Amino acid sequence: MSRYWSDVVHRLTPYVPGEQPRIEGLVKLNTNECPYGPSEAVLAAMAAQTGEALRLYPDPQSSALREAIAAHHGLKPAQVFVGNGSDEVLAHAFLALLKHEAPLLHPDISYSFYPVYAKLYGIHTRELPLAEDFGIRVDDFLAATGDAQGAGAIIFPNPNAPTGMALPRAEIRRLLDGVPDAPVVIDEAYVDFGGESAAALIDRYPQLLVTRTLSKSRALAGLRVGYALGDPALIEALTRVKDSFNSYPLDRVAAAGAVASMQDEAWFAATCARIVATRERLTAALAARGFQVLPSAANFVFARHPGHAGAALAAALREHKVLVRQFPRPARIADFLRISIGTEAQTDTLLAALDRVL
Ligand code: PMP
Repeated sequence: MSRYWSDVVHRLTPYVPGEQPRIEGLVKLNTNECPYGPSEAVLAAMAAQTGEALRLYPDPQSSALREAIAAHHGLKPAQVFVGNGSDEVLAHAFLALLKHEAPLLHPDISYSFYPVYAKLYGIHTRELPLAEDFGIRVDDFLAATGDAQGAGAIIFPNPNAPTGMALPRAEIRRLLDGVPDAPVVIDEAYVDFGGESAAALIDRYPQLLVTRTLSKSRALAGLRVGYALGDPALIEALTRVKDSFNSYPLDRVAAAGAVASMQDEAWFAATCARIVATRERLTAALAARGFQVLPSAANFVFARHPGHAGAALAAALREHKVLVRQFPRPARIADFLRISIGTEAQTDTLLAALDRVL
């Protein structure tokens, strides 16, 4: 605390990211990174950004990247916004789209950055509990939207984090049909591993914003590139916020790498398929060891063992040099481990460690 702090700093509750330890030899399955390196085309495109290219500011509109993203999704560049990771895109969306009269609705168990942004921007939130089976109930969101408090906006990840469970597109449509007057933000950080994207609905629903990242399915968490897809009016709102904050969010190296990544469909399809195959193997192996594993459409699984408390199990795995994530709150998920999908060899190491610990 300092008397020089602003009122804003006094009211912050900052997000605590997963550990990025510098310890050699750790099997790192705690922050849902891709276990494989990015495509060679990405590395070559970034290496070409030297000398003269770095002397100049980057394109403030990131036009080449927005065109590559639009082409990938069959949309127009005016329907694409890019930023420094989807965290930054989400931050701009909170400022650009969320009104303060009615609460922002989000599930009680979802990405813990949402309440952090809400607090930063003084936005009132309302948490809706997940169902008994940890699914998101669209009916609850529809009911909350229609009651006295109403909804200023809705946000959730699909697949949800940290459960990994996905809602079918038909359910997203039912939500959008019932909430025409408030922005609906679907955070699709993990959609490439088996979820149904809402990107195809953008032309029909002007209140829909879909956010995406290159951090997971494109192995570029270190590059910090994310984007949003939506009606051009929503994209303009995000751009107005960006241009009032930092006109050049993407540096030239990141933008060039991201373009190459969006264009390398073969690497993308093969990598996603590989991760999904390992996820299915890990799910079966955990179930065989007595774990309850939630059905995952993401690059991680969320699992608990009836005989072991979550925190103790995570600590025991760490003793065996395997890092996983455990969330102490809310209490309902405290016994779950969130385990990122690693390589086949990392999965072998994890299973061998579990066999010693269980
Ligand atoms: N949304 C969800 C649900 C996430 O889990 C993450 C990763 N922590 C992000 C968004 C942000 O990812 P990035 O900023 O790397 O794009």
